[in-house]
Amino acid sequence: MSYIKRALITGSTSGIGLAIARQLAAEGVDIVLHGLSSEDEGQVLVQAFLDEFSVGVSYFQADISDPNQITDLFDRVKKEVGFISILVNNAGIQHTSPIETFPVEQWDKIIAVNLSSAFHTTQQVLPFMVEQGWGRIINIASVHGLVASVNKAAYCAAKHGLIGLTKVTALELAAKQVTVNAICPGWTDTPLLVQQFKAFSQKNNTSYEEAKQGLIKEKAPYPDFVAPDDIGRLVVFLCSDAAKAITGTSLPIDGGWTAH
Ligand code: NAD
Repeated sequence: MSYIKRALITGSTSGIGLAIARQLAAEGVDIVLHGLSSEDEGQVLVQAFLDEFSVGVSYFQADISDPNQITDLFDRVKKEVGFISILVNNAGIQHTSPIETFPVEQWDKIIAVNLSSAFHTTQQVLPFMVEQGWGRIINIASVHGLVASVNKAAYCAAKHGLIGLTKVTALELAAKQVTVNAICPGWTDTPLLVQQFKAFSQKNNTSYEEAKQGLIKEKAPYPDFVAPDDIGRLVVFLCSDAAKAITGTSLPIDGGWTAH
């Protein structure tokens, strides 16, 4: 039986999302890129994919903190490209602050982008996945979906919530050949961490590079960052037939962080 294999990866113009899109494209999966970049910037990325991979590639801009923009995004994708059978909820933001002074607007934004958007996108893709009898939903959570760190109230709440959403969706879809899993990366060197590198460097009076190593040492026994491409390879595996019975899980890829 051959199924439509077309992936939409939210927040795929940089970092982990871009690496996931590249790994899936290398496996022959059609790719829908998404992000906040302008349509013109998106087209540059589309061309780079088309030059490298023999798959269909498109780009759509939408701010997924807004449920209406998510509905509009999926309407446009359905009309201009087709149905989605692999959804990777990857877009995410961070803000660090003690809870007493945590800005309410940052709390609301992080919950909207890192958690609620995955509920809305999941609602959009399920009817087709169920109809075709094959689908994959992969939520990029974090080690912070499994354990906590100080000053990350909204991020930890959202990522723990995303793992809860993953489990419920997996249970509801288990008999329909649609698997739903969360991936929980540890430190991965992407634009998301820039503010934390700067803060560590200031607080400890170190260089930017020393700050990177310092952050790793604080949490993970493995002495390096997680490679974005390795997260992409894990997504590829979860999309394979060998992973058909893996559902409802939260898979750490964290250099041993959560083994403590
Ligand atoms: P990144 O900043 O490179 O990527 C985040 C992406 O989300 C960007 O493309 C950004 O444009 C997009 N995005 C943010 N807000 C958006 C919005 N309102 N609407 C649409 N798109 C939006 O960072 P990353 O590290 O690649 O993050 C990807 C995911 O991995 C996030 O969910 C993050 O929480 C998770 N994660 C990252 C790390 C890490 O150490 N970098 C660790 C664990 C989990």
